[in-house]
Order: sequence, then C-alpha cells, then structure tokens
Amino acid sequence: MIEVTSLTKVYGTGDGAVTAVDDVSLSVPSGQVFGILGRSGAGKTTLMRCLTALERPTSGSVTIGEVNLTELSASGLRKARHRMGMIFQHFNLLGSRTAADNIAFPLEVQGVPAAERRARVAELIELVGLQGREHAFPSQLSGGQKQRVGIARALAAHPDVLFCDEATSALDPATTEQILDLLKEINRRTGVTIVLITHESEVVRRICDAAALMASGRVVEQGPLLELLADPDSRLADILLPVGDVSLDPEHTSVVLGFAHGGTTEPVISGLTRRFGLDVSILGGAVETVAGHKVGRLRVALTHPDGGYDRDAVAAYLAEHEVSVHL
Ligand code: ADP
Ligand code: MG
Repeated sequence: MIEVTSLTKVYGTGDGAVTAVDDVSLSVPSGQVFGILGRSGAGKTTLMRCLTALERPTSGSVTIGEVNLTELSASGLRKARHRMGMIFQHFNLLGSRTAADNIAFPLEVQGVPAAERRARVAELIELVGLQGREHAFPSQLSGGQKQRVGIARALAAHPDVLFCDEATSALDPATTEQILDLLKEINRRTGVTIVLITHESEVVRRICDAAALMASGRVVEQGPLLELLADPDSRLADILLPVGDVSLDPEHTSVVLGFAHGGTTEPVISGLTRRFGLDVSILGGAVETVAGHKVGRLRVALTHPDGGYDRDAVAAYLAEHEVSVHL
C-alpha cells in the first residue's frame, strides 16, 4: 500500500547540510499496523513528513495506493492529503472548539453538509469512546481524552492511512496502553492502515504487525514482527525482547533461540541434551505477548563434554522444532 523507494531528504546545503533521511526504502502492507522505531534524531519525523507530503524529498519516491506523491501538483497533493489522517504527540486541537467541533473541523474544510457532519461526528464519538464529552473544550479533557479527539478528527474523512507521530509520548503508561489498544481496535474494525512513529519499544511490542528500525536516517531492518523476533540476528528483536550479551570462554557457544509462535522451550532443550549429549545452560531469556502472540527468546550456552558437536545436525533439529537459531 505504501512504497517508499530510495528516499533521501537533505536539509540545508554545503557544510551545514543534514541528511535526515538517507536512502530509505520501505513497504507498508495495506491494513496493517506498522511501527517505525528509532531514537530521537533518527529521522522518523522527517520520513513521516515526506510520507504525508508536508515535505518534498530531495530524491526518491513515495507511492500511496496507486498515487505517486512525488509526481503530484499542489492541488493533487491537497487531494491526496485528504486520504490521510494524522495524529500528534501534543494533540494539536483547537482550544476554542468543543471536542465535537474539533472532530467536525476537517469535514467543514472539505465542504461536507452539516447534517452529514453531525451524523459522522456522532459515529466517531462512539468509536473512540467519548460519549458524554462531546461538548467539552480541550482544556476540560485529560491527555487520553484529548488524544481520542485527535484520533476521531484524523478518521473523520475516512482516510486510507492514519499516521501517528509519537502519539502516546505525552501520556502516562496506563493511558498509553488504552490509546494503543484503541488504535488496534480501530484498525480491526475499519481496516485503516496505521503507521506509528515512535521511540518507545512498548508501542511496537503491543500492537504492531510489522515494523522497521531506523538509525541515523536509515532503515536498518524491516519486516513482519514475528519473523523479526524469531530471527536470532535481529537488532529489533534485541530491543523488543532483550536477552542480554554475555562473554563466554572460547569453547562455549552462546546462541539465541527464538520461539516465535508460542512454542515451549522445555522439550527442545531436553532434546538437545538427549539427542546430542549437550549441556544447555540458560543465560538469559524473555517471554512476552507481542501483538497478541506469545513470543520467547532465550540465550543459551551449548557445550559438549568432548568439546565440539555437529552444528549442522543441531541447527537442523532446532529448525524442525520451529526454533530459529544462529550457530
Ligand atoms: P526524529 O523524529 O527521529 O527525532 P527528525 O526527523 O526530527 O528525527 O530529525 C532528523 C535529523 O534531521 C536531526 O538531525 C534533526 O536535527 C534534523 N532536522 C529535522 N528537521 C530539520 C529542519 N527543518 N531543518 C534542519 N534540520 C532538521
Ligand atoms: Mg520526531
């Protein structure tokens, strides 16, 4: 649905030039919740501003649906932007308008008749759980309620994609969970594609189907979350389910086992002992529910009393049990 090809954005020129986004290619499938995780300064906001055509890329292209944003005129861009919703860290609500009137605002701009607007706003108030707070002003709402208004406003014109830049970073942990669960529920009910830009791994862990890791303007890794978590070499997996680094003496092998589909480790580990005569010591592990699936990663040291062991045979055995491993 969203295809980004070799996208680069440079701010400024000469010595002062900053390459905020550096040759990024990205694929976001339709209907998914897609996370873009990276530290502050990684280039996430700049990437999102290019995806939403608020910023013109220095080179490369962005295609949403069938539309190549980089080829559009100013009026074409305005139309394309009507197909996108955006929510922000600090909500960006109009303080002089009630919750309902904030939600109606984009519909007014687009010339939707009043009766139709009222019906749509009532639907949205229900969708985001703001019944009874329609007539409150932003100053009378909690952070979570303000973000619910922001979400409803972003969805008002039935966008194909909802872009969220640090949408929960101003909220406390309990409210963050509620807002994330609401976004997931909206994704399920309406099928809207959601792109979440965040520096918080919890956001990705809780609701994303797929994700990309960004560092220094580049996308380091991307893919379906469960596949990345099962990959022992994945950097994103190390961030989302850290199993720690250990130094072992040279005869020992430390490996990370990824159990991505809720498998249990016990039979696999006893199999390693029984079939290969290996000693298995567990050095670190993490199990969590990730995007609704139970996922585990385990760092273990494998040793054989006689020294070496047949790595290919062990790898094949683990693969048979759907355990990913890098030996
Ligand atoms: P993130 O959202 O991941 O924190 P940003 O996209 O905001 O990252 O910033 C990426 C880099 O681009 C940073 O080095 C930042 O200072 C720089 N940058 C962002 N916006 C501008 C701008 N308008 N002009 C110049 N440099 C900018
Ligand atoms: Mg940012």
